[in-house]
Amino acid sequence: MRVLVVGGGVAGAAVAYFAARGGARVTIVDAGEHAASHVPSALLNPVRGQSGGVDERALEGLALTWALVRELEGAGWRVPHGQAGVLRPVPDERTRARFVRHLPPALPHRWLTPEAFPVPLAPGWPQALWLPEGGWLDGAALCTALLGASGAEVMRGRAVAWDAHSVTLEGGTVLRGDAVVWCGGAVGAGWAGEAGTHRAGTLLTLERPATPLPVSFGAYLAPGAGGTGVLGATFEAPTPTWHPPTLPAPSLRWLLDRGGALTDLRGVRVTGRWSGTRLSGLVAGRQASGVWRLSGLGSKGFLLGPLLARHVAGDVLRDGAA
Ligand SMILES: Cc1cc2nc3c(=O)[nH]c(=O)nc-3n(C[C@H](O)[C@H](O)[C@H](O)COP(=O)(O)OP(=O)(O)OC[C@H]3O[C@@H](n4cnc5c(N)ncnc54)[C@H](O)[C@@H]3O)c2cc1C
Repeated sequence: MRVLVVGGGVAGAAVAYFAARGGARVTIVDAGEHAASHVPSALLNPVRGQSGGVDERALEGLALTWALVRELEGAGWRVPHGQAGVLRPVPDERTRARFVRHLPPALPHRWLTPEAFPVPLAPGWPQALWLPEGGWLDGAALCTALLGASGAEVMRGRAVAWDAHSVTLEGGTVLRGDAVVWCGGAVGAGWAGEAGTHRAGTLLTLERPATPLPVSFGAYLAPGAGGTGVLGATFEAPTPTWHPPTLPAPSLRWLLDRGGALTDLRGVRVTGRWSGTRLSGLVAGRQASGVWRLSGLGSKGFLLGPLLARHVAGDVLRDGAA
């Protein structure tokens, strides 16, 4: 069976990996631009945002992503990561009650008071939720490893049209296959002229981690590859269409303030920035057109992306065999 995948971010790379593992011959078309998945350090954090919501698939997704990282590293691919926990400070009792309401009993966690915080936080945080199974990973490295390990043929370029059995590239080349899976992310939705909910954000890359373990509330601090660190968040106002992400001066100030509210950032040098856009509105399955799709992973690209990709790839293969 030949599977054509549009997009080589975490969604497309993981679909390719699982489809190839299931015996398919996979070709990926990837423009290689504006991939949200190339976020320098992404959190694997099952307890989301300031609501503390936990997706019903979070535990399974977390376990699968870490298993995948181990599998890829075992096969010789390097995926910088740290599976040493995530700390979620909460500012008050109301927020804690909200978090508690969402916490599934099966999710390992502990509430800590300041004396027991595993990293020094800025003053004023009365408590924090410790999630020992969370962590961080290098998004681009995971995609590279998945693509490499899949053995898929990767074609650099932009797809301009697709249907259930073909993909047309800029320049007119037509690829044919038994199934087409669209995983174009926020930028692809923009190029396709689709309306959606796009949210842009920025990570400042730091010379060293501001905290040795990831810390997240409002913004996040995390270690990154090679002894570096990041301070980031997705915080720009949502827009219905995709725009190249920028970092306006007020956003930079906001981000630094949020980082400073988490821990003391004095002496931590900023070395650069990475900006990206994520798309909300999960779609995982076959569309009326016959094209399969995995998109709209929102802020949970690495928590749920591989898990949903495994489902989609499984359905594509079963359908092809029927
Ligand atoms: C600032 C920020 C921080 C984030 N932090 C986290 C985090 O901590 N944890 C977490 O789990 N998630 C995080 N996310 C979300 C996560 O990055 C996304 O959910 C995920 O990367 C989306 O993956 P994707 O494969 O759907 O899309 P993308 O990674 O955007 O990949 C799409 C790819 O398809 C290509 N493409 C699109 N259209 C075409 C076409 N027509 N032809 C050829 N190629 C095409 C693009 O060039 C791109 O390479 C963050 C996002 C941002 C912006």
